[in-house]
Amino acid sequence: MKMSNEKRQVEPLYDKNVKCIFCGKHFKTKKVRSTFAKSFKTDSDFCPHYQEESENPLYYYVNVCPACGFAFSDEFSDYIGALTKKKIESQIADKWDRSFYCSDRDREKGIRTYKLAIYSAELAEQRHIVFANLCMRLAWIYRKQGDLDSEKRFLALAAKEYETSFINTDFAGTAMTEIQILYLIGELNRRLGNYQESLQYFQSVVEHEDRSRYIKLVNLARDQWKMAIEEYRGNQQSEPI
Ligand SMILES: [Zn+2]
Repeated sequence: MKMSNEKRQVEPLYDKNVKCIFCGKHFKTKKVRSTFAKSFKTDSDFCPHYQEESENPLYYYVNVCPACGFAFSDEFSDYIGALTKKKIESQIADKWDRSFYCSDRDREKGIRTYKLAIYSAELAEQRHIVFANLCMRLAWIYRKQGDLDSEKRFLALAAKEYETSFINTDFAGTAMTEIQILYLIGELNRRLGNYQESLQYFQSVVEHEDRSRYIKLVNLARDQWKMAIEEYRGNQQSEPI
């Protein structure tokens, strides 16, 4: 009994200490405890679905410095050159309205943090993998909201950024591997109706040198490959002659 009472007292959100990679100030921002961040369903592009909307970890992926407004994920590089610093100073910090994103976030607040982070990443010239991961998560939030146009807009941006990341191999040191990125480019293109590109990338997953270590992913690529072919044929049949 005592244990379950104690467990109940644990809040889903906790304060994480973060150091702003632009101004260097320390602040606390809410994150979701991993025990509460369990998804009950995952889509074919790895979009997680959570039971509790209010504790959706996707809303807490971005840190927004309350002092200067610079917004960043944990994947951002903390190296910012002198010229870039000036740009961020004039475009973000000087214009910052002191909005506060460090406490509980709803969907709207979550969406705003991604837009701030995408803008910050652009000014701070972050790697393509960082952009891609931001755009894809924002697309997932729009999917949950049922906003198909915005979802597709950000899925398309994510696909383009993953592709550039793959070409430049700038994903090194992140949690993502080459075969996962190739799969995602294939799957995002399938969702966007770009079937030719999609099939090429699924093929590169199936033939990848690491395929024996990623059997589940390779099988998934095969399934999605078939689905892409069926969708492509279906689309062709419905085209007016
Ligand atoms: Zn700051």
